[in-house]
Amino acid sequence: MVNRIDLKQDEMPDYWYNILPDLPEPLPSPKDDTGKSFETLQKVLPSTVLKHEFLTERNLKIPEELVELYHQVGRPTPIIRAKRFEKFLNAPIEIYMKMEAYTFSGSHKINSALAQAYYAKQDGVPFVTTETGAGQWGIAVSLAAALNGLKAKVFMAGSSYYQKTYRVTLMKMLGAEVHASPSELTEIGRQLLKDEKNRHGSLGIAISEAVEYALTHNGKYNVGSVVNSDIMYKTIAGNEALKQLEKEGIVPDYIIGAVGGGSNYAGLAYPFYGKFRNKIKYIAAGSLEVPKMTKGEYKYDFPDTGKILPQLMMYTIGNEFIPPPIYAGGLRYHGVAPTLSLLMKNGIVEARDYDQETAFRFAELYTRTEGYVPAPETAHALPVIKEIAEQAKKEGKKKTILMSFSGHGLLDLGSYATMYT
Ligand SMILES: *Cc1c(COP(=O)(O)O)cnc(C)c1O
Repeated sequence: MVNRIDLKQDEMPDYWYNILPDLPEPLPSPKDDTGKSFETLQKVLPSTVLKHEFLTERNLKIPEELVELYHQVGRPTPIIRAKRFEKFLNAPIEIYMKMEAYTFSGSHKINSALAQAYYAKQDGVPFVTTETGAGQWGIAVSLAAALNGLKAKVFMAGSSYYQKTYRVTLMKMLGAEVHASPSELTEIGRQLLKDEKNRHGSLGIAISEAVEYALTHNGKYNVGSVVNSDIMYKTIAGNEALKQLEKEGIVPDYIIGAVGGGSNYAGLAYPFYGKFRNKIKYIAAGSLEVPKMTKGEYKYDFPDTGKILPQLMMYTIGNEFIPPPIYAGGLRYHGVAPTLSLLMKNGIVEARDYDQETAFRFAELYTRTEGYVPAPETAHALPVIKEIAEQAKKEGKKKTILMSFSGHGLLDLGSYATMYT
């Protein structure tokens, strides 16, 4: 059995998958009580991205220039079989890792950042703005902007800005301007800075700043997760994985992955859902410190603290929830993508949350067996493998698992260091 499944560049699928026509019930529309939010979106989103938000076709062809940009950043990514981790778990399982960690940005986030920057460029604007928590999305947008010849202005949650200095440096090397949020650059930032308490910022605040800045300075805003268009762009990973596993005649029993806003998991799982529906078990893993999936409510809520954007129907623990400063910054978001929430509500996707200590312990086990350091976010999905392994042992039946290896942990060593002090 092979250890690694590759696609050649010219074998990369040249289309995205859109789940909207395949959902078990219609997706509740975004809600705009003030009548101003839609207007804001119309101004700040690249016009093509806005169109894609409501697309009804199942598959959409990727523009040729964008295919070349995907190649530039390391696509297609391989699938690696984690044989040594299988052996360590000593159960009848096969683990296939879709290695989004191998892209230049080090995570799956580049898959959407490239598309959004490309469409912003088509609208003729000079720059894009975005928010970032721990910095992975900021890096992806900085890289995507650089490759598309645009400036990037990144609003980074204050606490991370001063902690994740290597990520800030990487963004700057890519040519981006990075601002600790809240900042003096926006009205909402200036308001919040009046209270010292707000200085550490949050993802929700940074979103509000990035949107306001784009709105007032004639730029375009790039969305990091949650929305339909972003998720569709990220399905390039799932479309590749479908083709890779097909080559080997494999249909996974389980698809697993970590959920921040949901796009990482959806990007891998949705194309499989499109083809296999309920023949596969879908398990999404989150952070127990931000338990929107297992303890959240399914209701309309704002995606941003500033309440500038339309409300979305989703599992949420509330836009005002202040998450504890966990290291898996990419999982700190308060809500779950509306499409993924709908699949959860219909019992198609099951959710499990794990605490940080458990995730770190599994990250260490994985590194010692496979020799590759996962991001703390990625590591939150590893305990699911152990649970499936126990199940497989009990049933004496072989189980095949496909997981999104969403990012590497080489820029998270400062966080992992806390295990050894
Ligand atoms: C951001 C991030 C996630 C979570 O992504 P969502 O698309 O928001 O669910 C998972 N893993 C890594 C490595 C990340 O950077």
